[in-house]
Amino acid sequence: MPTVLEAADARVAELLAAEQTRQHDTLSLIPSENHVSPAVLAATGSVLTNKYSEGYPSRRYYQGNLVIDGVERLAVERAQALFGVEHANVQPLSGAPANLAVYAAFLEPGDTVLGMSLDAGGHLTHGWGVSVTGRWFRAVRYGVRRETGVIDLDEVRELALRERPKLIWCGGTAIPRTIDFAGFAAIAEEVGAVLAADVAHIAGLIAGGAHPSPAGHADVIATTTHKTLRGPRGAMLMSGDKHARALDRAVFPGLQGGPHDHTTAAIAVALHEAAQPAFAEYARAIVANAVALADALIERGYDLVSGGTDNHLLLVDLTAQDVGGRAAAEALEQAALVCNYNTVPFDPRPPLDPSGIRLGTPAITTRGLTPDHMADLARWIDESVQAAGREDAAALQRIRGEVVELARAFPPPA
Ligand SMILES: *Cc1c(COP(=O)(O)O)cnc(C)c1O
Repeated sequence: MPTVLEAADARVAELLAAEQTRQHDTLSLIPSENHVSPAVLAATGSVLTNKYSEGYPSRRYYQGNLVIDGVERLAVERAQALFGVEHANVQPLSGAPANLAVYAAFLEPGDTVLGMSLDAGGHLTHGWGVSVTGRWFRAVRYGVRRETGVIDLDEVRELALRERPKLIWCGGTAIPRTIDFAGFAAIAEEVGAVLAADVAHIAGLIAGGAHPSPAGHADVIATTTHKTLRGPRGAMLMSGDKHARALDRAVFPGLQGGPHDHTTAAIAVALHEAAQPAFAEYARAIVANAVALADALIERGYDLVSGGTDNHLLLVDLTAQDVGGRAAAEALEQAALVCNYNTVPFDPRPPLDPSGIRLGTPAITTRGLTPDHMADLARWIDESVQAAGREDAAALQRIRGEVVELARAFPPPA
């Protein structure tokens, strides 16, 4: 019996099946990816996609929203409980628009924003030049210390005192170390700035108690829902009551039209899952795997930015191996290990072929891999990088066979 999709559109069905096979037969080491539960997937592919519900619960511009109101209220209550916040908005369509809403809530064009430089580990939306956040606002950037590879709060404070930003961002996309939310909050308070903690990458670790929480420190907590939190593609903005109205108005009608109610339902499911004791174990296992992988790579002579990791990700500097990040990432894909090339702080190479690769353990931990598997993983990574250096396709094919065997033994949840 063909599925509904196969019967209606064989070409799309074929592409989806091919992607499912790819996900099964490779290991995703991309730290921003994960495998959602069948329950999250079911809510995402539900009839809620048929509904329009501009506005907020009990204040909609369309009729027929009694059920949707219940869904959104549930998601909001679960976010409040899980993250210990007074206010949550679950409507942002994804991380980048959520961050834009933070600007819309607190800044006027031309105002100053202080964020972490993209090439040091920040995000485009924290004021990088090619993003509208770097063009419409006056962006000032902090980085990491050259000797340590970690954020220097003295530098952040100096910049903040000199530049007087209205908004300060902490958090990013390639930060392997714990973020000192209290330290950032003290700086923001000293200069009268709003502090926004962008925890897109680490929201699941925070929910599971494996990373300190920004609640009580940051004025605004921005997060995606699809990374370590293991929900659908979406985002949330959280705050105290004080900023609730400004954030809500910035999201709608400031920036968006109707929310994606199917996503809201799936966020509610993911938040319910993240509140279970098993999720705290998952969060701890993500970190245990990352630490074990870091140790195994260091043992093989690899240079990790900041010397290791406290969280779910590793930034590997391949300068000593004399292999470019892009060549390494492409070779790893040949070996069924999917990652991304990444700049390292003070990278002398161009962004499209930088010196590093970024590796993360959220997806492989969801599949059930443990620290015991990390020695093999490090060996395959090492062998693939070496094979990239001498363009040895046969070696990559041999490694691929071993990786696929492990991947098939640990399928994603279904
Ligand atoms: C992923 C990410 C975003 C953007 O999320 P999208 O859903 O891709 O728009 C924003 N900030 C940080 C820190 C991220 O890691």
